[in-house]
Amino acid sequence: MKKTILPGKTLGILGGGQLGRMLCLEARRMGYRTLVWSGTRVAEPVMGVADEVILKEFDDGQALTDFCSAVDVATVEFENIPLPLLRQVEGKVGLYPSAEAIGICQNREREKTFLRDNDIACTPFRLVHNADELAEGLRELGQCVLKTAEFGYDGKGQVKLAADADAAAAWAEFDAPKGVLEQWVEFEREVSVMVARDGEGQVVTYDVAENEHRQHVLDVSIAPARVSENVAAEAREIAVSVAEKMDYCGLMGVEFFVKKDGSLLVNEMAPRPHNSGHHTMDACATSQFEQQLRAVCGLRLGETKLLSPVVMLNLLGDLWRANRLEDELAKEADAYWHFYGKSSREGLRKCGHANFLGEDALARVQELKERLLA
Ligand code: AMP
Repeated sequence: MKKTILPGKTLGILGGGQLGRMLCLEARRMGYRTLVWSGTRVAEPVMGVADEVILKEFDDGQALTDFCSAVDVATVEFENIPLPLLRQVEGKVGLYPSAEAIGICQNREREKTFLRDNDIACTPFRLVHNADELAEGLRELGQCVLKTAEFGYDGKGQVKLAADADAAAAWAEFDAPKGVLEQWVEFEREVSVMVARDGEGQVVTYDVAENEHRQHVLDVSIAPARVSENVAAEAREIAVSVAEKMDYCGLMGVEFFVKKDGSLLVNEMAPRPHNSGHHTMDACATSQFEQQLRAVCGLRLGETKLLSPVVMLNLLGDLWRANRLEDELAKEADAYWHFYGKSSREGLRKCGHANFLGEDALARVQELKERLLA
């Protein structure tokens, strides 16, 4: 049986971004101490929020010793952490989710192979290692997206290719020894499910969220998603089955494409809280961060019911264009904002988010965006 880690103990968090910040805030409220190992020299979001921060790269041996000797259990807020390090942390203190589960989710080849081997519907794909394999893949799959296997997120490391694209030129441009070539999906919408599973195999899911992007960056997330009950139930079932087949312990985000005929394809999994789960902070009794903490610390999983329709607006850098964002938010009664403590607001950088509650939330979010981006 998994050990229960009670308040007063120290949670170790690998990664020092906004997800780590929000996990630290929740941990503090619940009476836990936090130690963040950022893996970077700068980690603005967690400064002043974590009890302690180790600002060292992930290849620093002393940092590993210091981290493991100070924490009672560890988790991640970010999946792109070297797998050998995750295994070392797992060997010294408990790591939830496991290094193996994070290893699957951090690498598109392993992720896709896991889905295919477990008969979970995902986008048709081929692994390609050279221009000839790319040309063959394009012939078989038609229009595609070529993605790097590792370290890709928010559309980074991805290139869209027409069925008749020049494979030699595209491969020469692609800066990686191996690619995952995915068929282009004409989806109707994108949705996601947050699922949590504890050490005893109890599983809970949150309502399905619907996700709209701007240049591959999540912009707005709507819960509940505007899909039929059947599609919503199926998405939640698939998310449970992904967690079960991975023997997962922790919180995970599962992203899907919903096709025009209502069928679902898993796009990818995130072994941590997810941007599309931020609505849970104000619209559910148990936020996704509390849920992660509960799963990681071996507490009973919390209630996931959606208490109000909610629309999460990501506060991306360009919403400050007219420099009125805070003024506008301050006028809203039923909107709850969360800032990440970042000093630069370049481009579409994620600087915070706001949860708008109520039946008219989407209209209010759209009006606000129009005013700010006009
Ligand atoms: P990813 O980083 O793989 O989640 O991709 C970022 C975004 O690119 C997704 O949320 C989709 O909007 C789009 N995208 C990725 N893969 C595909 C695909 N195979 N077909 C259509 N759109 C895609």
